[in-house]
Amino acid sequence: MIPVPLALGCCDEVDDLLSEYLDGELGPHAAARVEVHLATCGGCARLAAELAQTISALHRLRRDPHASA
Ligand SMILES: [Zn+2]
Repeated sequence: MIPVPLALGCCDEVDDLLSEYLDGELGPHAAARVEVHLATCGGCARLAAELAQTISALHRLRRDPHASA
């Protein structure tokens, strides 16, 4: 297990960071804190999974604007 100095306890804070986290824009420390919260919070983990699907769908559309799904 990774020793985490400061776990995020606040769902609102994680919610704010989620899109940046999923885009890989968070620094390693912030990303680790988000991961810890996701590992311990089912609600945020589910939110993250849904957001990840949305983001990957958007990226697919941007990469292949003429692709037929
Ligand atoms: Zn949470």
